[in-house]
Order: sequence, then structure tokens, then C-alpha cells
Amino acid sequence: MAKINKQYNPDFLVERQELFTKAKRVVIKVGSAVLTKENGLNLAVIQHLVEDIKYLQESGREVILVSSGAVAAGRKKINFQEDQIVTLQQKQALAAIGQSTLMHIYDKAFATHNLHIAQVLLTHSDLAHRNRYVNFKNTVFTLLKMGIVPIINENDTVSTEELQFGDNDNLGALVTNLIEGDLFICLTDVASLYTANPDNDPTAAPVFTVAKIDDSVEKMAGNTTSSLGTGGMRSKIAAAKKVAGGGGASLIGPGRTPGIIKKLFCGEKIGTFFLPQRNRLQGRKQWIAFVLKPQGKLEIDDGACRAICSGGKSLLPSGVIAAKGKFQAGDSVECCNRQGQVIAVGTINYRAEDVQRIQGRHSDVIEQILGYRDSDVLIHRDNLVILPDKVGEK
Ligand code: GLU
Repeated sequence: MAKINKQYNPDFLVERQELFTKAKRVVIKVGSAVLTKENGLNLAVIQHLVEDIKYLQESGREVILVSSGAVAAGRKKINFQEDQIVTLQQKQALAAIGQSTLMHIYDKAFATHNLHIAQVLLTHSDLAHRNRYVNFKNTVFTLLKMGIVPIINENDTVSTEELQFGDNDNLGALVTNLIEGDLFICLTDVASLYTANPDNDPTAAPVFTVAKIDDSVEKMAGNTTSSLGTGGMRSKIAAAKKVAGGGGASLIGPGRTPGIIKKLFCGEKIGTFFLPQRNRLQGRKQWIAFVLKPQGKLEIDDGACRAICSGGKSLLPSGVIAAKGKFQAGDSVECCNRQGQVIAVGTINYRAEDVQRIQGRHSDVIEQILGYRDSDVLIHRDNLVILPDKVGEK
């Protein structure tokens, strides 16, 4: 029997069940490996999934589905060879071919339960632009109020490398954070996370609950990728970590088990559960922490670290030792302590050249030095997100 660290033990049974019971807004991500079988989309799996979603809705919960399967459906539709290497352009074309098939099948399956669906296709830049992100959120909330199930996928047709989410695990995690979901359920083709690779290590044991995703947990995920989708256990752990950092819980579990979601909500010990790492971050902070790509880095002194981490204060120019990168006012930047650890991220009020001129100086002299003063603070506390480890140190 493998030695299992206490934090992976079923000690958190009560917390796990409580978080399931309390979850009001649930994001379910289902991967291509679950949704497909040899001759195309697996209708039985889709039917079970729809029944599960119906169950959640009837229990008063809001459900958002993040579904892969467009590329896989497209492949089957035109008999694209399984062993053929797919270029990015081909993948985009296959997604365009398969997305309508995927939605058609969902449409029919949900209709048998008198439920309606809505298609939402996203690229990373849709979320990175504040207005588009707000529109996305408003539309999803409106759909949920109407009792419709939004089905989200990446807009593969227009997603080139730099626009990509990476994979739908990441997309599912981002969506969970941005719409302030309580629970992210990532359905895959394995039963759970294991302490080692169960295919070649007889000591491998399933992991029931993870309190904190650290290096040892990341190591367990190994380097697996999926042949049909783009993820693997590694990307699922990264997604769970993102959700935990935003204040949500996650579950990675076997998507082909009929009634898996109902079973989970009824307390069955299936899959691996990940506890939230902090209190829920509010919408704007989720967006700053998880969508915006940092354009620079500030090194800040010990006093400023304390003030922002424990005192809930804004970051002042006086606390900054150095500013690196070519950022503009409004861009996201990372804040590092003297040891180089990133402790916070936030949107800054001044561009890089100006920060370099006012760093280490009192806010009173900003105007004198720059000839203008947009704000007394470099990063306002409302636009500053302290990273979970530092929050825990409070
Ligand atoms: N968007 C892709 C599809 O629908 C899947 C990407 C993924 O599974 O990570 O086929």
C-alpha cells in the first residue's frame, strides 16, 4: 500500500459533502475522450450527462457545461484518418465541421428532458477584453435565469496559438472562476488522480481529497495527455489549482460512469476532490488574477509586502524597488518580494517608464516628478489580488 500523505486521506469527508451540498452554480467540463467512441459521439454518455444536468437543475442549481468533442466529431464526420497528424489549421477546420454536429446532438438529448441549450464559443481574447468579458458574463447569467443550459467550447476556428486557452480544462476553470461557480466538475476517462501511475506501479492508490495542490500533487499527475482532446491529468490538476485559487472546489472523476454527478451529490466516494484555497474572489479580481496576462514585474520591499498581504492596503510607489517589462497604465503586473516570489498580481495605474521614475518615492511628489498625477497609488487594493499562499499566511 502506498504511503499516503494525510492531506490526501478521506479526512475531509465532511468538508467535501458540505461543499457539494452548498454548491449552487456548477460548471461541468466533459472531454473528448469521454464523449466519443469508435464510431463517433457516444450518445449513451451524452444521455446520462443530460439526465445528471436535469437532476442538478431540479435541485435548484445552475449548470454550465463546457464541452469538447467538436474536433473528434468533425474527424468522424468526414472520416479523417485517426493516425493522421492534425495541424492547427486542420484542427480548426475539423472543429468547424464537428461543432454543429455536437450541438445538434446535445439539442436533441436535452429536448427529451424539456431543456433548452445555448451555444457559447469563446477565445481567450474575448475574456481578456473587459467589455467582451462583461458581455459574456451577462449573457451567461441571463441564460441561467431563463433556465437554459449554456454549452461552452473554445472558438477553435479563430483561435490561433496565442489566442488559445490551451485546452478545455483551462477554459472550464476560467469559466468557473469568472462566473463565480462554486464547483468545477471535470469529467474524464480515468477514475481519479492516483498516487502513482496505476498502469505500471502496483502501489498506486486513488487520491480521494486534496487539501492543497502542491508539487507532490502535481508530480502525481505525471505528464499524461489525451489523444483526442488536448489535456491530460496534468492539465486537469492545473485547472483544479486555478479554481482553488479563485475560491472554488473541483472534482476530477470518471465521465463514463452513468449518473456520476447524481452519485457525487448523494455522497458517493468517487473521483478526486480539491478543496478551495481561499474565500471566493469577486468577479473583477477573478478577471485580473486569471485572465489578464501580466506584462511586467515589480519588486517590492518587505514593508509593502506586509501592507498588501496582511494589511489589505494598496501598493504605493514608495514600496517599489524595481519595475521590469514594457507595461502601460491599466496592464496587469506581478508583484514579487525580495526573494523573487510572486506574491500578488494587479492592474497598475502608471506605465513602466513612469513607475521607474517614481519608485521608492512618496506619493506627494508624483506630480512634481511626472508632471501629472493619475492616482496616489500604483495599484489600488480593489485591483490587487494576493496569491493564495500569501493569503494563508495572514
Ligand atoms: N475545443 C476542442 C474540441 O471541441 C477540444 C479542446 C480540448 O479538449 O482541450 O474538440
